[in-house]
Order: sequence, then structure tokens, then C-alpha cells
Amino acid sequence: MKDFPVSRRQFLKTAALTTAGTTLFGGLVTRMKADEPERKLGFALVGLGILSTQQLAPALQTTKYCRLAAIVTGTPAKAVKWKQQYDIPDKNIYNYDTMDRMIDNPDIDVVYVVTPNALHAEHTIKAARAGKHVLCEKPMEVSTAKCQSMIDECKKAGKQLAIGYRCQFEPYHLECIRLAREKVFGDLRYMEAGFGFAIGNPNQWRLNRALSGGGPLMDVGIYALQATRLVIGEEPVLVSATATNTDPAKFKDIEESLVWSMKFPGGALANCSTTYKFGTMNQFTAFAQNGTFGLKGAFGYGGQQLIRSDGQEMNFPPVDHFAAEMDNFARCILDNKPTKVPGEEGLRDIRIMMAAYESARTGKAVTLA
Ligand code: NAD
Repeated sequence: MKDFPVSRRQFLKTAALTTAGTTLFGGLVTRMKADEPERKLGFALVGLGILSTQQLAPALQTTKYCRLAAIVTGTPAKAVKWKQQYDIPDKNIYNYDTMDRMIDNPDIDVVYVVTPNALHAEHTIKAARAGKHVLCEKPMEVSTAKCQSMIDECKKAGKQLAIGYRCQFEPYHLECIRLAREKVFGDLRYMEAGFGFAIGNPNQWRLNRALSGGGPLMDVGIYALQATRLVIGEEPVLVSATATNTDPAKFKDIEESLVWSMKFPGGALANCSTTYKFGTMNQFTAFAQNGTFGLKGAFGYGGQQLIRSDGQEMNFPPVDHFAAEMDNFARCILDNKPTKVPGEEGLRDIRIMMAAYESARTGKAVTLA
């Protein structure tokens, strides 16, 4: 994904420490004495690409409840560099074939899967079988069946599975949800959302369906989908989509751009768009009975702006989305509470995106039960 301007300043509203004892998810026992500092959960990053390097590892230096404890990489040179930079002991460095040995490593509580989309199930399942909680990047996987297998394996292991939906921890998105829930502008009737960028290197995995599962819809359109679903608070019952490809030499087996419409059970509609062709699509607008509200720069790593038709301004302190997301997951584990971004949430998006692809392919709207 395109690199967005980021603020590393941390703004976390985290719950007070719990003294709860038993755990639903077979995880940490968090009974502590009042004067005993809580240990930070050890995170293992799987896949040391751009997101891990530029966002996640730096964010982990600012988190309250997490620490970078281990890495999984197929590139020995990266292991050497990360070992030095983040002081990672040799015993906490794995490759994709050895990561099942994490089962013997108590330093690792959470495995964060940051590999290409079609490898998420393989790495999530290995982590769950090694007895670790899993945070998996979006999109969850490339098919509903693979998503379901991830959910099943984590359940079987008694471990939590969360999807890296950073915007669910971002205050401007949360404010849009509040405006909708409290009907500040009346009933919501219609939404528009779009996210896209001009993709560079034609040889990257994002343009290879076998690894990506699709084009910009899977990569960034998913943010527009999430925003509409979360703000309306309903699941779409009908989706229809149209894709285009003006550069088949570059976009051999994925869409270049895609627009899709959704109907929600209460009668509201949404129009969404995504592209790998140009970089100026990054907005969300909700149209309600008595006005509109939305976000400019809606889905970047920072810099969101709330736009309200009544002109009222609302500014929130900058948040590192990734630090907030990881700290929230750590708190869920420590408090033995379910995450608000579970595998089931990831699966819902994949199901809708697969319906959009089906509609684009067949030219017919797809009903979602
Ligand atoms: P990247 O290409 O920079 O990194 C992917 C990593 O996976 C690399 O280290 C690569 O070596 C490794 N890898 C392992 N097996 C591979 C294989 N068979 N083929 C190719 N690479 C392989 O990608 P990225 O931008 O870091 O994205 C990784 C994941 O994170 C994706 O699922 C992506 O959707 C997600 N992501 C999320 C956000 C967000 O804002 N939440 C932003 C960017 C990426």
C-alpha cells in the first residue's frame, strides 16, 4: 500500500489494569499484585516487508502493553539487521519453516502476520498451533474457506484471532460511527467511500492474483467497505460491481479499478470505489436526513479531517493507528476479553468482496443472505 504520512505520537485510551484471573482464551493469567508491573506481551512479526519495517516495528517501540520480541523472515540478511536494530536474541529469530518451534518459546504471546494475503492462513494456522494469539493483517485471506479455517484453528487452540483493521482504533472513524449511531444528522440514507493509489512496480505480489487474491479492492477498497459497514452498523444484502482494466499488460489477472454499490437492510445505499490507477481517491461521506458528515484523507495512516455540513469542527490528537491496534489487542488478551476485530469480522469483508468480484464477472447483482 502507498506509504502515508504517519504520526508516531501515541494517543491511547486504555483500560485500567485488571486483576481478573481465569482466561477464556487459555492465554495469560493476569492476576497481579498491585505493586507488580505488568509485563508487556511479546509480539513476533512474520514477514519483514514495508509495513513491518516502516510502521509496525517503530509502533512497537511506543506501545504500552506490547514489545517486539521475535521475528520470522525468509531472508537471513534481514534477520541480522533486525537483530542488531531491535536487540532480538537468536533464539527468537525464525524462518517460515521453523516458526512452529515457537511453541517452546514463552517470550512470544502474539504472532502478527504481515505476509502477502494468500499466505495469511498458512502463517496464522502455524502460529495458532504453536499456541500463540494471532493478529493478522487485512485482508484476512483470499477466500471465505481460508478465513473459516483460520477462525477454526484459533478456536481449537483456544487463542484469539484479530484482524489488522487499524481504522477501528482511529478517532475520526469512531466519531463518524458516533454521529451515525446518535443520529446527529438524522437517519443515514446513503454513503460514498473510495480509496485508491497509483501502484508502481509491476512485478510486486499485489499484482499477482495467486498471492493477492485480487487487485485494489482486496488491498485498499476494503477500507471503504469497512467504513460503510461500520458507520451504518448493518450488513449489506445486495452488492453489484463493475471493474475496468485499461492496462492489461500491467494488470494481467487483477482489476485495475472497481466500483461497487451496496444496499443495506434498512434501505440505505452505498457507492464505493477503488483503484490502482491514481492516487487521489481517499474519502468517505455519509448523507443523512438533515445533513452530511465524512472524512477527508479518510484512510491514511494519519491526517484525517472531519467534514460536517453544519460546519462544526472536531479535532482529535494524532494517533499511531498501529500502536493503538496492537495495544488494544494486548489489553483484550490480558483482560481475557474478545477483540472487536475478530476473524469473523475479517470473514464478513471477504464474503462481500467475493460477491463484488462475482458481480463484476457476471454483470449481475449478488444477493447476500
Ligand atoms: P511487502 O511486500 O512489503 O512485505 C511482505 C513480506 O512478506 C516481505 O518481507 C516478503 O519477503 C514476505 N514474503 C514471505 N513469503 C512471500 C512470498 N511467497 N512472496 C512474496 N513475499 C513473501 O508487503 P506489505 O506492504 O508489508 O504487506 C504485507 C501485508 O500487510 C499485506 O497483507 C497487506 O495487505 C498488509 N498491509 C496492511 C496495511 C495497513 O494499513 N493495515 C498497510 C500495508 C500492508
